[in-house]
Amino acid sequence: MKKPILTQISVNEHLYSVPDAPEKLNLLDLDREALEAWFVELGEKAFHARQVLKWIHKHQVTDFDAMTDIGKSLRAKLQDIAYVRMPEIAVEQASEDGTRKWLMELECGNRIETVFIPDGYRGTLCVSSQVGCALDCTFCSTARQGFNRNLSVAEIIGQVWVAKREISPERPLTNIVMMGMGEPLANLENVVAAMGIMMDDLAYELSKRRVTLSTAGIVPALDRLKALSDVSLAVSLHAPDDELRDQLVPLNRKYPIRELMAACRRYVAGDRRKVTFEYVMLDGVNDSDRHARQLVKLLQGIPAKVNLIPFNPFPTTRFKRSSAQRIEAFQAILMRAGLITITRRTRGDDIDAACGQLVGRVTDRSRRHLRSAKRDLRNLETAAVNKVELEKNRL
Ligand code: SF4
Repeated sequence: MKKPILTQISVNEHLYSVPDAPEKLNLLDLDREALEAWFVELGEKAFHARQVLKWIHKHQVTDFDAMTDIGKSLRAKLQDIAYVRMPEIAVEQASEDGTRKWLMELECGNRIETVFIPDGYRGTLCVSSQVGCALDCTFCSTARQGFNRNLSVAEIIGQVWVAKREISPERPLTNIVMMGMGEPLANLENVVAAMGIMMDDLAYELSKRRVTLSTAGIVPALDRLKALSDVSLAVSLHAPDDELRDQLVPLNRKYPIRELMAACRRYVAGDRRKVTFEYVMLDGVNDSDRHARQLVKLLQGIPAKVNLIPFNPFPTTRFKRSSAQRIEAFQAILMRAGLITITRRTRGDDIDAACGQLVGRVTDRSRRHLRSAKRDLRNLETAAVNKVELEKNRL
């Protein structure tokens, strides 16, 4: 049986999770700063960090012996004390529209999902930040599986490493969104370090505009993110008032909309960028003209754009996707008010790779999956009773 990832080490004031093999360090866990500090601690020159970072991420070389601009004795030393290991692909699925989904197995046996969405010249990778998710958004498939733990830096950047290896050079990776399984701000330190590697010139060279963190709105962590990084921000809003958002995104009960909007304003203060607000379109729940007008009012004064996401159903959900006409009417109200509004094309839904459908395999430590199963059963019973009543009335 594989060993769980347990050990945490401190390098340069950052905490890193490493596999339970203290004598060896997975170098995927270290960003440039941490790698430089590690080499210095070893009594070596800091510039070796830059060489190693480039070999691993740019050239995808994981064998220290093949890192030919590093001296032989240092290569031998690295073999003894370090290694490079990323998650392994357990299952791969390809959609008719070109979307690819990888179920990646971690050393602890849990599985996470990563999705690549090619679209014209763009190639967007949707990366997971946690095994499952501790938040319980009612329309989200990931949420029903419960939560196991945060991903390490190696497990986050490892998804990017594997995707780069798998995709063709003609359709390269141009954008990364931290929108897969999990709430990235609940794993802030590791996510920030991994995003640093995504933007590093010696690694994936993505600009801050092409790396986006999507959050349900952990307000204090959003302020910390601003101090640590300057990636683009997306907020899973989904409702224009607290009453509805409390139901759809339970985190709202802790950080209500007013506080969230203030944090968004602080995040983009002094910047020309806009916050992207994601709004899943749920039939008869949050998609009326009234909701659209409320949303316009809410976003007044915030540099914002809106992504409308047609809901992607999954088994046992009680929600339905809004009709195309309803989404169009909703979008028209926002556009008339001057809000840049895009309706996201549903991609990869034939392989359950669309937004909100990622599930992986999670050893739940929160017992949420049991609660979800009970809730599903109740919903099924209610639906069955309603159907019988309907039939009776018809007769
Ligand atoms: S929508 Fe995002 S934050 Fe909410 S439960 Fe799903 S993965 Fe977690």
